[in-house]
Amino acid sequence: MFAKVIVDIAHAAVDRAFTYRIPDGLDVRLGHHVLVPFGQGDHVKEGFVLSVMEESDLEGGVVLKDVLSCMEPYTVLLPEQIELAQWMKEAYHCLLVDALRLMIPAQLRGGRIHEKKERIVYLADPSDEFVSRSHIQTDVVELLKKTGQPMSIQDIKAFLPGAAPAIAALLKKRVLSESSFTVFRRPEYSSRTEQIPELTQEQATALQEMEALSPGQTALLYGVTGSGKTEVYLRCIETCLEQGKGAIVLVPEIALTPQTVGRFAARFGDRIAVLHSRLSAGERFDEWRRIRLGRAPIVIGARSAVFAPVENLGLIIIDEEHENSYQSEITPRYHALDIARRRVKRNNGKLLLGSATPSLLSYYRALNGSYRLIELPHRVAGRPMPVVSIADMRAEFLNGNNGIFSSLLLSKLGDCLKQGHQAMLFLNRRGYSTFVSCRACGYVMTCDNCDISMTYHKAQNAVRCHYCGAKKPLPKVCPNCGKPFIKYFGIGTEQVEEQIQKWFPGTKTARMDADTVSHRDAYEQILSSFGRGEAQILIGTQMIAKGHDFPNVTLVGVVAADTTLSFPDFRSAERTFQLLTQVSGRAGRDKDPGQVVMQTYVPDHPVLRFARVQDYPGFYQYEIAQRKKCLYPPFSLFIRLLLSAENEDALIERGKEYAKALEADLRKALGEEGQGDLLLLLAAPAPIARIAGQSRYQILVKLLRTKRLSQALHAVYDFETAHREDGFLKIEINPQDMF
Ligand code: ADP
Ligand code: ZN
Repeated sequence: MFAKVIVDIAHAAVDRAFTYRIPDGLDVRLGHHVLVPFGQGDHVKEGFVLSVMEESDLEGGVVLKDVLSCMEPYTVLLPEQIELAQWMKEAYHCLLVDALRLMIPAQLRGGRIHEKKERIVYLADPSDEFVSRSHIQTDVVELLKKTGQPMSIQDIKAFLPGAAPAIAALLKKRVLSESSFTVFRRPEYSSRTEQIPELTQEQATALQEMEALSPGQTALLYGVTGSGKTEVYLRCIETCLEQGKGAIVLVPEIALTPQTVGRFAARFGDRIAVLHSRLSAGERFDEWRRIRLGRAPIVIGARSAVFAPVENLGLIIIDEEHENSYQSEITPRYHALDIARRRVKRNNGKLLLGSATPSLLSYYRALNGSYRLIELPHRVAGRPMPVVSIADMRAEFLNGNNGIFSSLLLSKLGDCLKQGHQAMLFLNRRGYSTFVSCRACGYVMTCDNCDISMTYHKAQNAVRCHYCGAKKPLPKVCPNCGKPFIKYFGIGTEQVEEQIQKWFPGTKTARMDADTVSHRDAYEQILSSFGRGEAQILIGTQMIAKGHDFPNVTLVGVVAADTTLSFPDFRSAERTFQLLTQVSGRAGRDKDPGQVVMQTYVPDHPVLRFARVQDYPGFYQYEIAQRKKCLYPPFSLFIRLLLSAENEDALIERGKEYAKALEADLRKALGEEGQGDLLLLLAAPAPIARIAGQSRYQILVKLLRTKRLSQALHAVYDFETAHREDGFLKIEINPQDMF
């Protein structure tokens, strides 16, 4: 027998399968993690078995090296995962090894982690009378008699501190025998018991529609906040288990809290495994093994859990499907949704995408019929949607209020605190100090070419467009109303906290932003302390927008609803709508109706109008028309190539050359009829032109989404491969930021 083995070395030159002989008596199968001699010096290397053959595929009686051994008794890769990795190599132009590495825990490589064994002891002969002068030895024997079963040494020591020497003595006297078993290190989560609710009519219909979905198909569950999407997920998983199949649930990393996991654990107990970046190495390895060995058919995890080794995969759920964290920013630059679609097709499973604010692309596909649209338009148990009021900050300003709170928000905050309820104040860090607007009329400086707000650059005291590079000086008066109140905009969470103290002295506040959430568990700690009522007002950035139910929160204030709206990105309307909807969803999750106050300088903006009544379909119709007009995604795709070098002149020179060469490659790949697909190819210094002494230059490409798109992408990837060594920083497909 022969095996094709890829060695675990990330280098293009060896990123292929090599043929080895399988020596007699060694059980080597597809997916095994093996040791092989490699290269001239026969260095021992790890590798993965990609296939097993009866005959060697090499001609002319080449003498082959032998596979040395298997590193684990089980295969570490499923045949399906190997196929998936091979597809990824083609689709993302990555190394096969890089794709395979996504499918196993990092610590498995190099044998850096091992199973944890626990020693257990039991009475050699339970009927024996035991007499000893040692009290502690007698206690140990009594304890084992009482429990009537083997106990781990750990557990005995918990009952009888200092029992270790006694146990050792008893083992020596053969009063006790010992053995060991494998323990799985598991992350902690709160697994409370729950009452399984009766489904609402809407939930029941949603489930029927999921059942009617044909194998390999995708459904989009559009459900308003608090509509009970999670219960639908739980029931779909239940059906999946009844059919003897497994399921994967993807949740954004930040929402993957012990509470979230707890909801699944309450229903499915030990059958769930959890995968995310905050696990210890041991936990990660053991959770992965529980999945691989079939003990946990349900996986809950962040983006990379989409690769989990679930056999007979019946269902993948992607919650909050619109989140950008599902796009990987490092090689291989996959999107979890694309991987999920492939896996369910291959397994004849189903894919369920859920959101209160679906991405435009997903909703577009749902309306097109390529996804099935399932809707939950109402909150469960007749709970009302929050009441949203808009505070017009222009009017406030003209009335002499130049503070950060409107009179409306102040009065509602006062009421809320008086009644002993809690409030959340939301700020968007990303809009901090960047865009330029007029406090009197709400005018925002936008680019003449791009319909996108311009960004203030302090160093040059100028505003620039991040899309086309256009530059203007910072005006002294507003070009719209002529008043001298034009300024760059910015409020921080600290400032909000100060103002709260000024208006409501003695109020307990908690703050959550990138500064306060510096270590692993801070996020969780702040939220749970707020949940226990230890603060009356939680002030935070988008981190507080999602996740928890706080029944006592009756007021949500959005301090500056338009900061993201003016962000220089074609997605700014979509992101603002998503954020406003998510934050509003935090109010009144229990019986008290929620109140939301959105402060804005552009109260008539369509995004605010739709967000106010949580009308996603209305927003979609508005926004998709905008995108179509400018041929922005989903009608097109942006690609950014980022270069960097110390010498700016040389970099610009090279960047221009590259742009020319790339354009030629793209035009060739698109063919004669595809020339119009190349909507834009722009070479310019990157918006942040210098970072840490390195100059940055970018080539921005905008391509029409046609059937020729994948050819064009291949041309871009090939271009990157050909120039990999020359100061290439990275290439981004659908870049999430343009900095
Ligand atoms: P979503 O994820 O859509 O925002 P959740 O799944 O968090 O909504 O549900 C909102 C609340 O309603 C939760 O507290 C949940 O326990 C509760 N809930 C869900 N379905 C039902 C039901 N059928 N009957 C009663 N309560 C329900
Ligand atoms: Zn522009």
